[in-house]
Amino acid sequence: MNTFTILTQGHSDIINITEHVEQIVAERGTREGVIHLFVPSTTAALTIMEDEAGAKKDLHDALDRLVPAAGEYAHNAKWGDMNGYAHVRSALMKPFLAIPLHEGKMQLGSWQSIVLIDFDNQPRTRQVHVMISSAV
Ligand code: ZN
Repeated sequence: MNTFTILTQGHSDIINITEHVEQIVAERGTREGVIHLFVPSTTAALTIMEDEAGAKKDLHDALDRLVPAAGEYAHNAKWGDMNGYAHVRSALMKPFLAIPLHEGKMQLGSWQSIVLIDFDNQPRTRQVHVMISSAV
């Protein structure tokens, strides 16, 4: 397993981590398989999207409608850390991804980027674990 670290600003910060993953894939030299990514956090998530300002704004707006930061959350009432929305967003968007690897390259579409989203209400240091299952 390989791990890299990302510093985030929190507040649904969307960070493109594609190049980090590509570097690990190149170093490992696996040609065929599946790349598994995992962020060990209950207030962050991994997804794939176009790394474009409009698309990122649209995702932020959609999350604000679906899971508003200022909503009422039982987690906030119990713990007082006021990031109940971040836990819900993380659970809905998931902390893991799987990407096919073929002829040594991730099979991402032209506009697909791998992104880490940090929903917490403060800057955080995040670890992303990368495991490659070889198909050969
Ligand atoms: Zn919390």
